[in-house]
Amino acid sequence: EEKMLQVRNLKKHFNLGKGKTLKAVDGVSFDIYKGETFGLVGESGCGKSTTGRTIMNLYDRTDGQVLFNDQDVHKLSEQDDFKLKKQMQMIFQDPYASLNPRSTVADIISEPMIVHKMYKTGKQRMSRVYELLEEVGLNRDHANRYPHEFSGGQRQRIGIARALALNPDLIIADEPISALDVSVQAQVVNLLERLQEEKGLTYLFIAHDLSMVQHISDRIGVMYLGKMAELTSSEQLYKKPLHPYTQALLSAIPIPDPDIEDSREQVIIEGEIPSPIDPPSGCVFRTRCPMAMEACAEIQPVWQEVEQDHYVACHLYNDNINDKSPVTSDQH
Ligand code: SF4
Ligand code: MG
Repeated sequence: EEKMLQVRNLKKHFNLGKGKTLKAVDGVSFDIYKGETFGLVGESGCGKSTTGRTIMNLYDRTDGQVLFNDQDVHKLSEQDDFKLKKQMQMIFQDPYASLNPRSTVADIISEPMIVHKMYKTGKQRMSRVYELLEEVGLNRDHANRYPHEFSGGQRQRIGIARALALNPDLIIADEPISALDVSVQAQVVNLLERLQEEKGLTYLFIAHDLSMVQHISDRIGVMYLGKMAELTSSEQLYKKPLHPYTQALLSAIPIPDPDIEDSREQVIIEGEIPSPIDPPSGCVFRTRCPMAMEACAEIQPVWQEVEQDHYVACHLYNDNINDKSPVTSDQH
């Protein structure tokens, strides 16, 4: 399989002044293969959106590397960066906030085509706008209307049409369905899947909830506090989650088939996600981990491939740690 994107030990830190640093992304590695959907999941504030934006070179990286078709996205000339922005497009959580309320749908979808000088005449451009509207399940009568005249789901379709306008290869979808009604979420997911099939698109699909990426993703990475906790195929992640955080996230999702008895042990994570300005020592998950042991406060777990294509950062799978007895909560 061909790698489209290679993210290598990526870090994005924000200097907040007064000696404080926000380690939004702190050493994340993953690959995305051509034509697949990679789900990136984690609670809000875990760094998943910042990862997406750093991949797009909307933010410079603090350390590490992002290779897109073997090109380092943070070392491109201005001209090559302009070309890159054509190949990678973003879809946002709140389509209303990302669509200019004073522009017509035709103007919104045309804008990237004008910036990238895709068509010689306005007529050619308009016929492409009509085509895109139809591809996302809207129609040409919508072209002269304004964003506020549409429902949330329709607005997300407009956002998708705009993202498709430049014929991108990779779409970074940052929580594209989180703000939508449950009944509309499936329609937008179906649309994204159909477009992927028709156009051979590759997706980085960001979500805060595993249930949202379960069906659409080929592989899934779970992030916690700026770090990757676990990464494997969607199937393997649901069948055999290894990281206590993934286990907790999954045990919160009910099994949809009523004929299957839910015999899983409920893993409950307590407390709030700590601040990425002052993350816990050792394993960043240890303050909420029901399995935390002594070593977890002292040593950062390494990112290791414990089974083929199944990566996890947790001392439970580290053979060099002998004492794996959990510390009781009053020792925390
Ligand atoms: Fe829990 Fe320790 Fe594993 Fe971190 S390293 S997830 S604290 S058991
Ligand atoms: Mg976000």
